[in-house]
Amino acid sequence: MRNNKRYETRVVGIGEGLRTKVNVNVGTSGTVVNVEMEIEKVRTAVRYGADTIMDLSTGGDLDYIRRKLIEASEGTPFGTVPAYQAWIEGLRKFDGMKIPSDWFISIVERHLKDGVDFMTIHAGITRDLAFRAVNSSRVMPIVSRGGSILAVWMIENNKENPYLERWNYLLELFKEYDAVISLGDALRPGTTADAHDELQISELVNNSKLAKDAVSKGVQVMIEGPGHMTMDRIVADVKLMKSLSGGVPYYVLGPLVTDIAAGYDHIAAAIGAAIAASAGADLICYLTPSEHLSLPNVEQVKEGLIAAKIAAHAGDIVKLGAKAAEKDVKISLMRAGLDWEGQIGFSPDPERASRIRAQFEGNIRSCTMCGQYCVFLLLDKYLSARPKLSFDDIISRYGDLHGR
Ligand code: SF4
Repeated sequence: MRNNKRYETRVVGIGEGLRTKVNVNVGTSGTVVNVEMEIEKVRTAVRYGADTIMDLSTGGDLDYIRRKLIEASEGTPFGTVPAYQAWIEGLRKFDGMKIPSDWFISIVERHLKDGVDFMTIHAGITRDLAFRAVNSSRVMPIVSRGGSILAVWMIENNKENPYLERWNYLLELFKEYDAVISLGDALRPGTTADAHDELQISELVNNSKLAKDAVSKGVQVMIEGPGHMTMDRIVADVKLMKSLSGGVPYYVLGPLVTDIAAGYDHIAAAIGAAIAASAGADLICYLTPSEHLSLPNVEQVKEGLIAAKIAAHAGDIVKLGAKAAEKDVKISLMRAGLDWEGQIGFSPDPERASRIRAQFEGNIRSCTMCGQYCVFLLLDKYLSARPKLSFDDIISRYGDLHGR
């Protein structure tokens, strides 16, 4: 993916054979509009290693906010969901639901001109699927905000999806701007009980056909995925998506592996994300502890990002083997050698690791968990008598372990 013309370029590769990347969502809501806080979230995301950033703003001056957040992102590939702005401004500009279908496309063009690098385009939900969803036995028929906007517009106007109707023109636009289409999963399951039903799979089939069409016309594309899904379904989900789409990048939200974790949903999502990444998912959308409860604050953005990065890395050790395990080997050697400075330096948040290390009194070589009974101290005499372990030998075990 390439950052667009108006800002400094940072190239981030997403796809097969590459490290799993992590996306951070920021943006105002209809009730909390604090642009400074959103800018701080972007800065935090950049500081803690987000690979991509998306602006999901739905409150305030959306053009102004998007431009400020793009500026703050320091060239990190930047995404949006144009359906939000099309709906919010369309309802004001036109007579209620009578938003013309071209209006949806004009907002896409506006975002491309601003230098947006990738956009969620909900082209896979057809009018028929929207009708079926709202009449389905799902616990939560539609949980995607963009998806519900498209569904309401199609049902009220009895018209086909504007992104689908103008698909060829969208392809031309994205090619011209060298931007990426991220096919939205309007019908992702919002509870583990709704996972892998006919609606989710029907949209995935539609998105896969659209993705293949985009690839054949030289347009960069990825497909978005669930959502909520029990652990046993995740590997099959990734494999099915890859097989249907011809292997385009899979961009997953979580998946959250349980519905019970309010306040800790970044952990429920990280468990699913690690499994998805290990099975071949390419980009992981972080979730914060405030998911399902509130707009996140800056600290929650940081927590969510770090959880997602750990999940992505855990997946990569399986997916990429020795190629991804270098840091694990280095830290393990430091841990066995009681090298605290080294370990802390490699932590996802060295300040936090350092604070925790110092939280109880105890000026000792080990840590305060076992104190003087630390295994490395007890075995020190034997460990130091062993021949020095070679880094290459250790890292090759990851490759051997997974048959690479
Ligand atoms: S004291 Fe215990 S927990 Fe701490 S480094 Fe030694 S073995 Fe590990």
